[in-house]
Amino acid sequence: MEFKKNDMVTVKIEDMSHDGSGIGKADGYTLFIKDAVIGDEVEAKIMKTKKNYGFARLMNVLVPSPDRTEPKCPKARACGGCQLQFLSYEKQLEFKKNKVEGNLRRIGGFRDFSIEKVMGMENPWRYRNKAQFPFGKDKDGNIVTGFYAGRTHAIIPNRNCYLGVEENEEILNLIIEYMEENHVEPYHEETGKGLVRHALIRYGFTTKEIMVCLIINGDSLPKKDRLIERLVKIPGMTSITANVNKKRSNVILGEKILPLWGQGYITDYIGNVKYQISPLSFYQVNPVQTVKLYETALAYAGLTGNETVWDLYCGIGTISLFLAQKAKQVYGVEIVPAAIEDAEKNAELNGIENAEFYVGKAEEVLPREYKEKGIYADVIVVDPPRKGCDEELLSTMLAMRPERIVYVSCDSSTLARDLKILCSEEYRLERVAVCDMFPASVHVETVCLLSRKSS
Ligand code: SAH
Repeated sequence: MEFKKNDMVTVKIEDMSHDGSGIGKADGYTLFIKDAVIGDEVEAKIMKTKKNYGFARLMNVLVPSPDRTEPKCPKARACGGCQLQFLSYEKQLEFKKNKVEGNLRRIGGFRDFSIEKVMGMENPWRYRNKAQFPFGKDKDGNIVTGFYAGRTHAIIPNRNCYLGVEENEEILNLIIEYMEENHVEPYHEETGKGLVRHALIRYGFTTKEIMVCLIINGDSLPKKDRLIERLVKIPGMTSITANVNKKRSNVILGEKILPLWGQGYITDYIGNVKYQISPLSFYQVNPVQTVKLYETALAYAGLTGNETVWDLYCGIGTISLFLAQKAKQVYGVEIVPAAIEDAEKNAELNGIENAEFYVGKAEEVLPREYKEKGIYADVIVVDPPRKGCDEELLSTMLAMRPERIVYVSCDSSTLARDLKILCSEEYRLERVAVCDMFPASVHVETVCLLSRKSS
């Protein structure tokens, strides 16, 4: 049977896609239905049809799946931030495990492996130490803040996101109060007018220090003292800054920071390593899970104190400094110069002297150092962005013949692709662990250990 837009269908959800949509069939025709979960029987309206599959909108849950839960957040469906709030946490973890396992099998061609652990959270809420809230106006002209809807930049008003810390709500209330009282306009994407674009809020889970950075489409904040006097009343307030971004683009942060009050950074710990975090620094957003992820990476690295380790895509050196405590020498490589400045400062802050950092592309720095200086590694750790590693880098890693390779990945499909290359001859996939850094979303981190066969 041929379906067309606006047809109503009844579908039993039998699987879930990588983006968290439910998948089911109507008369043999495959449909993707957002917010429907595996095991549901739903009524849905066809929105878009392609030759072999289509997309439908969930209208009614006729028979709920035993794994369906009431979302904690009333905005869960409209907001683009969460994709899995309708699924029990236990099933979310199963979904993530299956996703990694499936990619390793299908893309990587691996058969003989098992995922040794799935590290979930005891309490999978309020885990984020960072939030970026866009500002705008609703149709009545009121200033609103919240999160973007899934595919558009429509702001879904919400000052109390359950993934972020409770303090965010009060801070946003105060910022909006200040804006209303002083006629400070929110930025308007279509016209490029208005001042306040986003509020970036960071919270140190161990130190309880708070940072607020207002991203503005201008060079100064009018009557800034009126904002500061409000915000400093919040316990833990440590750093208030503005960030100048006058570009008409989706990139949230500009380059220039205007100090407004307090320090330019907050401090936080991962394990017993201390980090200074400024508004522009990359820092893992889930500190509770980050420790578990890094401890797994450290265990897989199998360090005894004599090893030379290369940490590629090192960011602000978080993994490097964690490993440096157990290695002879660690070298970090990262493309963003500011991140390397942070890495060096953080090494100093912790009195770590056996970590050295290079600015550049991993796929350029490693081959160059290997060809020119014949550098050596006992262990190589990689933690690339979603697109995975460059082939040039993979071949240099193979040529260097480290004892072990630890691959930390935020995208299991590129992970599987890269592991296939790394494991084609000399290396074997030894251990795999999954870490849930982002509960309620579809994202998942994986750590893999590869060992050299002839060691
Ligand atoms: N390991 C770090 C950061 C991982 S995120 C941590 O756990 O905190 C990936 C990092 O890779 C980012 O900091 C990004 O700037 C960097 N990056 C992206 N492409 C790169 C490349 N080609 N070479 C080196 N670093 C790169």
